Amino acid sequence: MPTYRAPRGTRDLLPDDRAVFDRLMRLAADLAHRYGYRPIETPLFEQAAVFERGIGEVTDVVEKELFRIAPRSEEAESWALRPEPTAGIVRAYVQHGMQTWPQPVKLTTTGPMFRYDRPQAGRYRQFWQFDVEAIGDAGPAIDAEIIELGYRFYMEAGVEGVEVLVNSIGDPACRPAYVAQLTEYYRGHADRLPPTERDRLERNVLRLLDSKDPAMAELNAAAPRITDRLCEACAAHFESVKAHLAGVGLAFRVEPALVRGLDYYTRTAFEFYVAGREGQQQALGGGGRYDGLVALLGGKPTPGIGFGLGLDRVALVLAEQGHVAPPEVAPLAVVVGADPDDTVTRFRVATTLRAARLRVRADLARRKLGRQLEAAGKDGAHFAVIIGDELAAGDVQVRDLQAGTQRTVPLDDLARELARAEASHHHG
Ligand code: AMP
Repeated sequence: MPTYRAPRGTRDLLPDDRAVFDRLMRLAADLAHRYGYRPIETPLFEQAAVFERGIGEVTDVVEKELFRIAPRSEEAESWALRPEPTAGIVRAYVQHGMQTWPQPVKLTTTGPMFRYDRPQAGRYRQFWQFDVEAIGDAGPAIDAEIIELGYRFYMEAGVEGVEVLVNSIGDPACRPAYVAQLTEYYRGHADRLPPTERDRLERNVLRLLDSKDPAMAELNAAAPRITDRLCEACAAHFESVKAHLAGVGLAFRVEPALVRGLDYYTRTAFEFYVAGREGQQQALGGGGRYDGLVALLGGKPTPGIGFGLGLDRVALVLAEQGHVAPPEVAPLAVVVGADPDDTVTRFRVATTLRAARLRVRADLARRKLGRQLEAAGKDGAHFAVIIGDELAAGDVQVRDLQAGTQRTVPLDDLARELARAEASHHHG
């Protein structure tokens, strides 16, 4: 056992893992750009109140999972690592007066999130999300556009069998009556509630609906459904979201128990799953409308909608579905030398080539030429640049390791020759 290990619930992304993430992050950036979202970065930590107010005190994320940063002194502010990006982005929207920008303000970010969760497969204390937010558009068309964008991310990433679950969770006009009815329902079955759920019953009854406790499954299945009790405006909104999804031929399923874990959501809620793995732990991503959030964080009442797609789970599913990490790209050339000790010249020649934007490694180990060439072959390099006695006349040998041929090239022409070889290799 090594003395030091990555903290519990975190992982090192080794180069092969990182290569998969890199591909996903590039795809995320490309898609966001294609759909008109501009990148934003907010701090990885915020005043804890941003999350406590913005997400809600009676949620798993705040009650149990908030990664608080211990203050160094009595008067220090209370901070927390971000468990999700929306609250921080909305805080930035308010702070920087983005209400005066053309609306909606469409923002995207991809980065690590932190939740002090019980670690298990697909559930980490540091995980990555691809996030988009459209603030200042009440929908319903943009709701469908965002759902379609999320779905396209999985399609282009190569995930098979992604299901789209949608719901409406109402708004301040119709939710209170539903919440009252739901509270009545669970009170009637209080004896069957596990202790945490009984505790939440009076504080945030919607949480019970998406409880992860298996003891709740049967009760929840028979619970009253919000979709049957939406006010006219919410019902019309939901119908229109569905019509827009149908308009682009996107298949979806209405899931009345889908309420999302966070308090600030209104109306549209959605999640993405891999078919057959709809357990609570397995959501690939999700999002929803948060028309109350901007005002909650001190701005003018402004509607908004967004999603967070977990990259760790996408990487896991891709691996399960047989995708392999993209192969490492071999160097174009390795600079080797007859004099094992002359690392300065190898370093200098390689530096010149890299300055010319070529992918070149210098062999900096003090070993015999034969061993250097062997290593270059193992690297999969196309060429070995061999430095020997010809250097006195300003020449080097270039060996084509794939063709087995070798010729003398003036040092002055080396970069141009290698660049030409690379171009013909790629396009020829
Ligand atoms: P949530 O805000 O809880 O809906 O999370 C959005 C997405 O982030 C989920 O669907 C997951 O893909 C991912 N996610 C959330 N929590 C974790 C975690 N602890 N570890 C890995 N991925 C997570």
